[in-house]
Amino acid sequence: MTPWQDRNITVAGLGVSGISAARALAGLGAVVTVVDNGDGDAHRARAAELAELGIGVRLGRLESGERAGEVLPEGTDLVVTSPGWQPDSPLFLAAAEAGVEVVGDVEIAWQLRGENAAPWLAITGTNGKTTTTQMLASILRAAGLKTAAVGNIGTPIIDVVTGEETYDVLAVELSSYQLHWAPSVRAHSAAVLNLAPDHLDWHGSMEAYAADKGRIYEGNTVACVYNVADPATERLVEEADVEEGCRAIGFTLGAPGPSMLGVVDGILVDRAFVQNRQKNAQELAHVDDVNPPAPHNIANALAAAALARAFGVEPRAVRDGLRDFRPDAHRVAYVDEVDGVRYVDDSKATNTHAAEASLAAFEPVVWIAGGLAKGATFDELVRKSAKRLRGVVLMGADRALIAEALARHAPEVPVTDLERTDTGAMLAAVREAARLAEPGDTVLLAPACASMDMFANYNERGDAFAGAVRELASGSAADT
Ligand code: ADP
Repeated sequence: MTPWQDRNITVAGLGVSGISAARALAGLGAVVTVVDNGDGDAHRARAAELAELGIGVRLGRLESGERAGEVLPEGTDLVVTSPGWQPDSPLFLAAAEAGVEVVGDVEIAWQLRGENAAPWLAITGTNGKTTTTQMLASILRAAGLKTAAVGNIGTPIIDVVTGEETYDVLAVELSSYQLHWAPSVRAHSAAVLNLAPDHLDWHGSMEAYAADKGRIYEGNTVACVYNVADPATERLVEEADVEEGCRAIGFTLGAPGPSMLGVVDGILVDRAFVQNRQKNAQELAHVDDVNPPAPHNIANALAAAALARAFGVEPRAVRDGLRDFRPDAHRVAYVDEVDGVRYVDDSKATNTHAAEASLAAFEPVVWIAGGLAKGATFDELVRKSAKRLRGVVLMGADRALIAEALARHAPEVPVTDLERTDTGAMLAAVREAARLAEPGDTVLLAPACASMDMFANYNERGDAFAGAVRELASGSAADT
């Protein structure tokens, strides 16, 4: 009998992680009900599959008139939530009132992992999580270790920890939502890459958001990795309750102090885990081994290297793993060069902090921006980036907010407001950017906004940009 036998568990959300949790828990003998407010064809098809496994599903509106995801099923003794559900959802309020615990899929994965389970190297931060987690997995693989990048990416983490395959170590990306609902996870080592306001509507305040991120350090055994340039991350380390002997390890784009990784003359160096006592620093890789070698991405590489080194990985594997790494699409991705101008797609820069990082990598730059601002302000971003800007092209629902910030802090920079929110605006934006750019410049799509006003998601927005650049290139070839 497992500790899950006959437990009465409600799973909130019929998405990928909810289905994975429901199947795993039902497989261990729990009585599982999945609730979801949707009741379209896709939901019904998934519900039918789960019903075959003896899992109950409640969809859409109930007889009471309330929606299924708002009502706590009778007898529930644990709620498992999917990421993204608001913490003040009626279901969770009902659970709190009934004294029923709410946890997320990552907590369940932690509890279900086997006896000799692989240790977790965990990563969070406002930006760079996926990239850094994949870099870390690449380094671990280069070291000959069996690993997977999981958590907020890839195969649902519950499936990985309960599956047939065994791993030496896992590279785990954790969002602030997942950390919020994962009270007992204890990583071998963890990194917080950076902290900037994001998802504050969900967390309620910057303090609450930071506190959820800081959970990643709780109980770490070997290293808590922080960003020297972002003191808020170091504060989270200081506040964390860690195992004895666990070290605070910083990463910096400058020369590293003791217990840090950093950069000296274009070389990534480690002063934290030096084995040879004759030396006070260990060379790891060249900055050009990092793909792309933009400053924010070198910071990501240092964080990944710090976690790998904390796990005992040799310097050569850090270098090889970084060389092997290819970033996911739409993350500072080079698209093409047309008439001496380079076009770069950073559609994934969906907030101001991310856009600031990618703008910092190019100069002079023609910046294409705009979309849904999600409550952000643009003054700091524009102030910090003004001197690099050759010109700006704006589109999308909240473009006026960016236009106002540009008028305040960069009045001399030419700005074209396309006054458009239709999908076809991307081609017009690229053409306008090409007009503003001079040979040697970069045209950068880094919207600093979410995409859903014009596109299904950031992938579609980035694809539209690449398509527009191709069209520009073919027009340019036809002209010559
Ligand atoms: P996440 O998984 O946290 O969303 P990604 O690795 O997918 O992060 O990168 C998202 C975007 O954030 C990138 O397109 C880039 O613009 C930006 N970014 C990546 N790393 C950093 C960093 N260390 N600091 C600031 N911005 C970053």
